[in-house]
Amino acid sequence: MLPETIASLPKAELHLHLEGSIQPSTVCALTARHGLEVTEQEVRHRYAYQNFLEFLETFKWLLRKQRVEANFEAILAAAEPFASRGLHMNWIFDAVRQFGPDAAMRVVDAARQCASKSIVAFGIGGDELSVPTKNFRPVYDRAGALGLHRLIHAGEVGGPEKIREAIEILEVERIGHGIAAINDPALMDLLADRRIPLEVCPQSNIRTAALALQLRRDKANIGEHPLPALFRHGIPIALSTDDPAMFHTTLVREYEHAQQLGMTENELLRLAQMSFDFAFERQHSRTAS
Ligand SMILES: [Zn+2]
Repeated sequence: MLPETIASLPKAELHLHLEGSIQPSTVCALTARHGLEVTEQEVRHRYAYQNFLEFLETFKWLLRKQRVEANFEAILAAAEPFASRGLHMNWIFDAVRQFGPDAAMRVVDAARQCASKSIVAFGIGGDELSVPTKNFRPVYDRAGALGLHRLIHAGEVGGPEKIREAIEILEVERIGHGIAAINDPALMDLLADRRIPLEVCPQSNIRTAALALQLRRDKANIGEHPLPALFRHGIPIALSTDDPAMFHTTLVREYEHAQQLGMTENELLRLAQMSFDFAFERQHSRTAS
């Protein structure tokens, strides 16, 4: 159990996919609107995977089944009643790496067309071993020209070189996951020196077997996660859930994982503070009533 001083703290979550936040019962309700019958049991079955590619398959299945286009204004309106308690949302438009640069450019264009102040960044997720990093340079140039912050998933299932490339070629400001850095001490120094945060999602790394891959073994458990090592090296960390419904986790549970990993109350406090430091957030205060 987390100490109340940590559990009650305001926290920002910086790596949270909309699609991965949909609980099984809601998936059923959404698919039913389109005349598709999907049982909760089927969704729960789909929400269990052995590896990263199986997880990506489930993600695609989820998008096909829902056939729902995100209505950002509607979601923001639904969140409005919670604003007085400190809830505030910004959006990152996330392209799928294996779909290539043209599709990614269309995502940037979609962000431009939405013209919402709540869209603050562009990123890329998906299979980082597919399309080479340099192919996305024009896409990131365009995103930057539109005033969007630059993010990417890197060093999740790929090696540390994917993180370096993202920093050097795409000039990204935050790295999704980035746990491969543990295999490259010079890269850890670079991340710490340049204050480039890793959006660390421990439970996700276990469920997709990304951590096992980085540790070069068949299985890994949460107790082996490098979160404390990365943090104590001076790398900024934004602790997150990634896809909480699909990975059966919550943000508070991720703080509990950090505690289980031996992080002290002061370190947990620092994690919560840092989550706001790198949130691309200007107008809103971090204090909750
Ligand atoms: Zn992600």
